[in-house]
Amino acid sequence: MSLVAELVDECCRRVDGRAVSLVRVRCSLPDIDGELQQAFTMLTAATPLQDAVLQVETLPVIVDCPCGYVGPAAEDVLVGHLFVCPDCSRVGPVRSPTLELLEVRMSLSTPFPGEIASPRD
Ligand SMILES: [Zn+2]
Repeated sequence: MSLVAELVDECCRRVDGRAVSLVRVRCSLPDIDGELQQAFTMLTAATPLQDAVLQVETLPVIVDCPCGYVGPAAEDVLVGHLFVCPDCSRVGPVRSPTLELLEVRMSLSTPFPGEIASPRD
């Protein structure tokens, strides 16, 4: 997932080579925590984020339907990344997931090994 790649990039920029213990994000889709964890593990290998825990908060999904219904979509009316209106069963547009970075917590004790080896001027 490119979203996670961007997230990892952003984290790396913020921490400037220091080891990260926790990354907290907010996600607009309720059903992709597993995918996020998997992608995060893959993409953070050999980076300062390699030992970081990814904590995902999900936002409630709001359906905004042409029939006039505006409200939460119950989880059982979610079809993949499509949203189905509970009132008229119209299938909503594919909503692109957003990932919002809430917090990057650095571990104070252990600097990323790659940084120790690199020369500093
Ligand atoms: Zn509707």
